[in-house]
Amino acid sequence: MATPQRYTGLIARYRDRLPVSESTRLISLGEGNTPLIQLQNIPRLIGVDVDIYVKFEGLNPTGSFKDRGMTMAVTKAVEAGSQAIICASTGNTSAAAAAYAVRAGIKAFVLIPAGKIALGKLAQTLMYGAQIIQIDGNFDAGMALVKQVAEHAPVTIVNSINPFRLEGQKTAAFEIVDELGVAPDYHCLPVGNAGNITAYWKGYSEYAAASDRHAAVIDKRPVMCGYQASGAAPFVLGKMVDNPETVATAIRIGHPQSWDLAWKVQQESGGWFDSLTDAQILTAQKLLSTHEGIFCEPASAASLAGLFKDLGTGKIPVGSRVVCTLTGNGIKDPDIAIAQCQDAKPVTIEASLDAVKQAILDAL
Ligand SMILES: *Cc1c(COP(=O)(O)O)cnc(C)c1O
Repeated sequence: MATPQRYTGLIARYRDRLPVSESTRLISLGEGNTPLIQLQNIPRLIGVDVDIYVKFEGLNPTGSFKDRGMTMAVTKAVEAGSQAIICASTGNTSAAAAAYAVRAGIKAFVLIPAGKIALGKLAQTLMYGAQIIQIDGNFDAGMALVKQVAEHAPVTIVNSINPFRLEGQKTAAFEIVDELGVAPDYHCLPVGNAGNITAYWKGYSEYAAASDRHAAVIDKRPVMCGYQASGAAPFVLGKMVDNPETVATAIRIGHPQSWDLAWKVQQESGGWFDSLTDAQILTAQKLLSTHEGIFCEPASAASLAGLFKDLGTGKIPVGSRVVCTLTGNGIKDPDIAIAQCQDAKPVTIEASLDAVKQAILDAL
């Protein structure tokens, strides 16, 4: 009989490829190991021969891929003796920072743009008990303040400018290659600060470099495709954007922190950046939920919306194998979800057998 193996998080799983030692105390909530789901209904619906997988990062402990980076960043902060962490956030980083800080027994300070964070993310951050500092400004303004204050106060920055964040996040690429047996042809991601696209590329590259240990077929890396919202598309415009706007609040970023790194990814992988309108993003979000049973947050759907766009133009050829990262869980943003479903308002009827029966017959 096989010995049962508890899954104890991504650092434990990929320990030999991460900057930890035998004695490092791991701060983990069992993150990573998220499902790679092959789409079945959407390829049929769009009538294109394409093999699409979604990496559903919304199933991490706090509901986004930020947990991958945060387990590593907080582990290293604690190892270095830090008593407090700080971040600027559009919501998901603050939820992750808050949760891992609690786990470690240290304090978390989070700067968020007042009124511009999804309800679920705010609820999480409050529940985890982080010190929330709301600012009358956007993410970019918060990020600038965090960088300044960290020079004057004993706090560790856990935004993706912290290199340990990217170390943790690169493990998503390891999981994909481990599961498919080979890297996909194309990898589509939403891009905000561009830390994640940089981390995936690092992961694929490290895997390919180590491929002599494995089958030769692993010596391959995907073309990286980064998608932004058209109102917050500095990589598409080739310059910073001062007043970014989009319904996809997680990528409402005008001054990406990993600017140079992401351009390097684009060049090395032969990939590109493109943008989608809010309407295209929301359509993809809803298509995924109504046709595949997968509910991601708006920003996440930019990856799928981008794939649709580039399949249409032939930039991503028929017959390709594509992975789209769904960065966060749809439950985080209930306001947008409910606003998207105004045409599907629940019917209200009297609480009787006849009325329920009639309602079913009417709907069939
Ligand atoms: C953080 C985040 C992004 C953007 O990732 P970057 O690394 O900043 O490019 C996209 N989607 C969701 C849900 C996020 O939380």
